[in-house]
Amino acid sequence: MTSGGLLERVREDPLMAELLSKVLVTESRIIITEGGWGIVEEFDFTSEPLRAVLSHSQEVDWLGPSDAPVCHYFAGGAAGHVSAITGEWFEGREVECAATGAARCVFEMTPSGDGKAELVRREMACRLLAMR
Ligand SMILES: [Zn+2]
Repeated sequence: MTSGGLLERVREDPLMAELLSKVLVTESRIIITEGGWGIVEEFDFTSEPLRAVLSHSQEVDWLGPSDAPVCHYFAGGAAGHVSAITGEWFEGREVECAATGAARCVFEMTPSGDGKAELVRREMACRLLAMR
């Protein structure tokens, strides 16, 4: 799966970065905000690692307060979203979480490795996508 170097084009072309940012703001408002999952304040495809910031997380309301980040659904969804857009496999992790007292929830998405668990995850994702 490949998108022809989308990340490289976004990082090199400010107009492409602005276009993708506007698409993601609109898409996030419709899916995340109106869906009740929180408010995506930032989704930066130019940073390394890629970065997303979420406020008013539904997962924090449901699962917080906590000693550890709780927004696993959003972390996985953000990584899946990046994977779908770029055509490359990414994994996400929450590095700051409002459930632990942070101001907002911050996520980083990085290219995923090729370990056995990752390969099993990819195979499952491909089977799910084939069912569409
Ligand atoms: Zn969180």
